[in-house]
Amino acid sequence: MRSPRPVFERLQQVIVSSYEQDSTREDDPDSLEELFSDNPMEQLQKTLQDLENAKILLKDILVIYLTQNPPNYQPEYRKYEDRTISVYKCRGLEVPVVIVLAGRCIDNDVMLSCAYSRATSRCIAIYDSLAFIDLPNSQFAAALMTEHPSIKQLQTTMAWPSLDKWHLTPIDVQGINLYWSDYWHGWVLLKFGEQVDPFLILWLLHILYTSFLPVYLGKDEQVKVLNPYHRMNKYSIEQLSKGIVYDDIPFLWCPSCKQWARVMKNAEDEWICLECSREMDLFFELPHFSSEMVQHYVQLALALAENKSLLPEPITPFSYSLHRWSLLNEKQREQLTRYCSWVDLNIPLCIARFLTGIEIITAQPGQQLENTYLQQHFWEQCPWLGENVDRTVWNQAVASCMGTWLTRRWVQKKEKGVYLTLHQKE
Ligand SMILES: [Zn+2]
Repeated sequence: MRSPRPVFERLQQVIVSSYEQDSTREDDPDSLEELFSDNPMEQLQKTLQDLENAKILLKDILVIYLTQNPPNYQPEYRKYEDRTISVYKCRGLEVPVVIVLAGRCIDNDVMLSCAYSRATSRCIAIYDSLAFIDLPNSQFAAALMTEHPSIKQLQTTMAWPSLDKWHLTPIDVQGINLYWSDYWHGWVLLKFGEQVDPFLILWLLHILYTSFLPVYLGKDEQVKVLNPYHRMNKYSIEQLSKGIVYDDIPFLWCPSCKQWARVMKNAEDEWICLECSREMDLFFELPHFSSEMVQHYVQLALALAENKSLLPEPITPFSYSLHRWSLLNEKQREQLTRYCSWVDLNIPLCIARFLTGIEIITAQPGQQLENTYLQQHFWEQCPWLGENVDRTVWNQAVASCMGTWLTRRWVQKKEKGVYLTLHQKE
């Protein structure tokens, strides 16, 4: 088979022996064009239009798609449907102009080589730039990235999160990555890595219960997956009545507004970008954070950093827990993190488990702990409990958590409601 020289050279680079290539022709360098777009379908139709303008005949064009589904053409391009085939059906064909709609399929050297080598005079490959976020490891991808330095730029532009696009106001609170989003009318809290540690979730709950505005919790890192898709957890007061649960907010790259955007499915089951349809917001009175609240968070962070026991008002069980947490050593934090989950439980239970856990872990082995004392002690330390939780519910929460620590062998029972702390081995 005879391929134009640039196509031949590309195929040589990726060394796929199953396709015998030879090229002795001196072609013009335009005979291979590789395009990167965050909207490959739009690019495909633009390319077809360019070919039509250049008076290339329909019968001399073949679109070979590697994407899962055939391209869904706009009405004016439907005439190309008969000139469009799957890469699995293109073997043996030879066509002057081949358009390879590669989309995100950049990890299959054999299929790409097969598609490229169908062209006898010109090959135009169209890639979805999102595919390169993953730093793919096929030979084709490596060759593309060497030859097209612009891909590196795309990787920066399309990196998650789109901090510069989200209209975020950074809030300078020591120890956490807190922002205010004018777009989403809520706080944005970014975490590093997989784990939601107690420090972060306690801050989140404190912010939620003092500002009464939603908090979006997201990861501040690129997720290395081939089908790029991100999500944030949206915590709101309404949700919390069901326990510590959250809404999952999906994000997709929006080629129109060039950012990772919140999306939702429309009636036709297609994703639509919520940022692009923001005009809706004009009809609502938008909530905003108050500067006193921000001042309060700054002071709380400062008090925590300096281990001060006098916390700024309002004191919630979350800020009180943050204070207790800040006094623990690494090992104690590790033990507590392992046994204190912060999801799918109601607030009194989460708080009671965390605080009784801290009380046990910081006590000398053999020290006596009584339910009645603990119930009263935390009740006094956190006036928030009196305003938001029924006393009986709270007492039951503490008692049931002490029962949990008994099963975990953090304490042993002395008599009803009275426990002795045990030495923590691990
Ligand atoms: Zn958009």
